Amino acid sequence: MSRVVVVSNRVADLRKTTQSGGLAVAVADALKAKGGVWFGWDGNTLEDESEKLGVDTIGKVDVISTPMTIEDYTQYYIGYSNSVLWPLFHYRTDLVDYRPQYFEGYMRVNGKFASLLKPFLKKDDLVWVHDYHLIPFAARLRALGCQQRIGYFLHIPFPPPDILAASPNHMALVESMLQYDLLGFQTSADMNNFHRCAEDFFPDAVGEDGEITYKGRKVRLLRLPIGIDVDAFIEMARSGVEEVSIDRMRRAILGQHQVIGVDRLDYSKGIPERFEAFSRMLHLHPELEKTVSFLQIAPPTREDVTAYSEIREKLEGLAGSINGKFADFDWTPIRYIHRPIPRPILAAMFRASQVGLVTPLRDGMNLVAKEYVAAQDPEDPGVLILSSFAGAAEELHEALIVNPHDTDEMAQQMYHALNMPLEERRQRHEKLLERVRESEAGTWMQNFLDVLEEEDAPQDAAGPV
Ligand code: ADP
Repeated sequence: MSRVVVVSNRVADLRKTTQSGGLAVAVADALKAKGGVWFGWDGNTLEDESEKLGVDTIGKVDVISTPMTIEDYTQYYIGYSNSVLWPLFHYRTDLVDYRPQYFEGYMRVNGKFASLLKPFLKKDDLVWVHDYHLIPFAARLRALGCQQRIGYFLHIPFPPPDILAASPNHMALVESMLQYDLLGFQTSADMNNFHRCAEDFFPDAVGEDGEITYKGRKVRLLRLPIGIDVDAFIEMARSGVEEVSIDRMRRAILGQHQVIGVDRLDYSKGIPERFEAFSRMLHLHPELEKTVSFLQIAPPTREDVTAYSEIREKLEGLAGSINGKFADFDWTPIRYIHRPIPRPILAAMFRASQVGLVTPLRDGMNLVAKEYVAAQDPEDPGVLILSSFAGAAEELHEALIVNPHDTDEMAQQMYHALNMPLEERRQRHEKLLERVRESEAGTWMQNFLDVLEEEDAPQDAAGPV
């Protein structure tokens, strides 16, 4: 099989166990097992232009990484990627902060990345580009004459045409995506939205059964939900329970139930709505006083984007006021931790929690939902409460599915979960675990690459967008 070259905005530190973010976790798990090349930003910013490429080999993976100028970071990363595309693709047009220089920076960095990677590419490589930061990457590589097969996977949702059209660059974005050989999406809803955008925006684009032909080039579409390394996570959950900190935590909550939420601190995750629902449950069921607590772990990310510092303030205020209302000397209803936690500890915390609350307002997949399922003790499993707006809801039907905007429904389902009989919990968990296994990280990667490799004759590029 051909060599795999993964391209993503940020290369993950494959030596660390505290990665947060679905892409880093899933791609790291899959690539470490399979081997290949990983190219992307090294996370550093520089005052001036300089091409200090880092090349490092970790296990079977060659990691090629580059720093970025502050201007690029501001315009491409903070600007277009995280102040335009992220909110737009999560249906939050109200949070889009569009500026023309952001789009210029976005195109510029995609071009720079393509030029930096090109000398490392071999003729038969399969190039696999990830996520919203790098939509124009194939078009940039093609413009440099690269003929390799290039696939793209979108980790976040793809919005319908009327939302996408809110971006002045919607035509260029969709046309860039049509330059790939294969496009992967988390859900059929996302894939259908892309299909509609291509047909609505480009009357020349002809779509049929999982593919679109545009200007003589055929792009295949694939629904391929991302997953986790299930057995590794189960093992982590088992061994993590031995950790001293877990033991301490368990004693602290002895006799109490624990509801857990684990997310990057992001407005798409619905964390304030979750706090409100927990508070509502305590209000409706005063008998729960001192019998249940809610642990939210949410390390801050993208703090240079205003909307992220705002959500942090909002949550701190909300946790404070809910605790102020319900807490007692020996009971803190909401505990809120802001930092990354090593994954074995996280896994053990999932296992020690009777309810997993995964209630994003909009999410591409949500790996936390799958991790929570994998971490449970099959003899006495906890209950997953899952937003209907998470990609995972297309698979995990046996979770308690909720609308995160409906505080009462979430409060009721949390109460229901806390009181669910053992037999029902076991039945749901058994089915959920089967489903989580169907989309394992390794299979997910292999399936994508198999389809990408299927047609070995490279197609002619339709020219730069
Ligand atoms: P997203 O990609 O939007 O961040 P996902 O739920 O798909 O959402 O992936 C998040 C990943 O990051 C999961 O693997 C989760 O375990 C991990 N993660 C989230 N919070 C933390 C944390 N505090 N410490 C370590 N890992 C975390």
